[in-house]
Amino acid sequence: MVDVLLISAEPARLELAARDRDAFLADIGARGMAEWPGVRFLLAQAKDQLVERPELAGWWMELILDEASKEWVGVGGFKGPPDAHGVVDLEVFIAPAREGRGYATATVMQLVARAFEHPEIEKVRARTLPQAGGPTRMLEKAGFQFVEELDLPDDGPVWSYEIEAPKRLSLVPEACSVCGGALMLQLLLDPPPKTNTRYSILTCTGCGLAHTAPTEPRPLDEQKVLSAFFPETWTKRRVQILREALGLSGGRLLDVGPEDPGFQRAAHEAGFIVETTSALIAAPHLEPYRAITFWHSLGQVRPLLETLEEAREALEPGGFLLVTAADAGSLQARVFGPRWFEHEVPRNLHHFDRSALENALVTAGFESVRLQHLATERELVGWVRDARDAVLGVGRPSVLRRLAVGAAMLPGAAVATAVGQVVDRGATLLAVARARR
Ligand SMILES: [Zn+2]
Repeated sequence: MVDVLLISAEPARLELAARDRDAFLADIGARGMAEWPGVRFLLAQAKDQLVERPELAGWWMELILDEASKEWVGVGGFKGPPDAHGVVDLEVFIAPAREGRGYATATVMQLVARAFEHPEIEKVRARTLPQAGGPTRMLEKAGFQFVEELDLPDDGPVWSYEIEAPKRLSLVPEACSVCGGALMLQLLLDPPPKTNTRYSILTCTGCGLAHTAPTEPRPLDEQKVLSAFFPETWTKRRVQILREALGLSGGRLLDVGPEDPGFQRAAHEAGFIVETTSALIAAPHLEPYRAITFWHSLGQVRPLLETLEEAREALEPGGFLLVTAADAGSLQARVFGPRWFEHEVPRNLHHFDRSALENALVTAGFESVRLQHLATERELVGWVRDARDAVLGVGRPSVLRRLAVGAAMLPGAAVATAVGQVVDRGATLLAVARARR
C-alpha cells in the first residue's frame, strides 16, 4: 500500500500556489504534481474560506503527497471543526490520473486517526455519490459503515458513511492537574444511578484540588442542563451577580458550559451579548470578551489549567473571569460526605474548595482573585434533596413520598443554608478574577 504525507494548506502556501507554482511545490516538499482541471480554482477558494473563517484552521484542507515519489497527488481534509455532537466531515480528492492506487484510503485512514486524537470527536463522517464504486469500497476498507441516503440541498442525493471513535478507556489521574502534586484518596463515593462504576475523590496534597477517579472519556454532558437547579430566579440572579460582582452593565460575554437559554435570555435583556461554548479550547475567539463565565461548569472542563489560561487570553485586558462552583469544603459537603449530590461524578472531573479554586486561578495567571460564598436556591435544594434521600434510603420510593419527605426537610434545609452562610461554610463559591492589563 502507498504511504502519503499530509501537508497543511495554510493561507500563505495557497497564496504562493496562485503566484508561483514552482515555489509552491518546493515549499510543500513536492518534486512534481499530478495535474487536474480546476486545481487553481480549488486552491484559491480554499484560501478565501480559510481567511474568512480562521476557526477552520486545523480542520481544513491538506495537500496529499506520495511519500516515496514526493509527487503532489490530491487534496483531502475536514470540512470544518467538529459540531456540537463531536462529528467531523471529511473529504478527499485524488487527481483522476492517480486514482485507484490507494492514495484515498491512505489519506482517509490518516485523517481518521488524527480526528480521534481529539477526545471530543465521536464520529467521522464522509459522503459519496449514491452508487457503489471506488469511493464506497474505499470508505468500507477504511472502516466506515453506510448509514443512510440523504438528499442535500447543495449536493443532491448522497450516501452518508460514518466511523465511530474507538472506545476510550477511563483513566485514573496520576498527579494534580494544577500543581502536579501527589494525589491521595479522600472519599469513595456511592455509585451514581444506572452505573456500576465506583468513583472516588482524590485530593492533591499540595493545593487541595480534588480529582474524580477514574475519569470518563467525555464527561461534559451537553444534553443535560441542570435546569432543575436553575429556576428562572437563579438565571436572573446570575445577571444580578454580573452587575454587582463585576460592575458590568453590558458587553461581550462568553458562557462556558451547557447551553442555558434562560440565562442567555436574561443576560440579553440586560444588555449583554452572550455566546455559549461547551469547550473553550478549540473555540475560535475573534474578538476579546469583557467577561467569561463558568456557572458550575469549571469542574467539567478539561484540561483544567489550560482552559483557564485560554480564558485569560480570550479576555480583553482587565476583563473578568467569573466562576461559581460547589464548595467541597462546605458544611453541606461535610455533612453528606460520599452522598453529596454536588460531587456529580463522572460529569465533574475536579472539585474545588476555596483555596484550591483560588490557587487554580492564580496559577493560570489571573490577578485580583476574590472569593465569597453565595446563598443560592441550589444550596437549599441540595440540603432538601440529600437529606430526603438519606431518610428514604436506597430503592424507589413513590414520587408522592419523595415530595412529602422533601417538603418536611425544607425548614431544616433553610436553617442549614443560613448557618452555612453565617459561618462562611456555604455550599456555593463565587470567584471573580481579572485578566492582566
Ligand atoms: Zn495541586
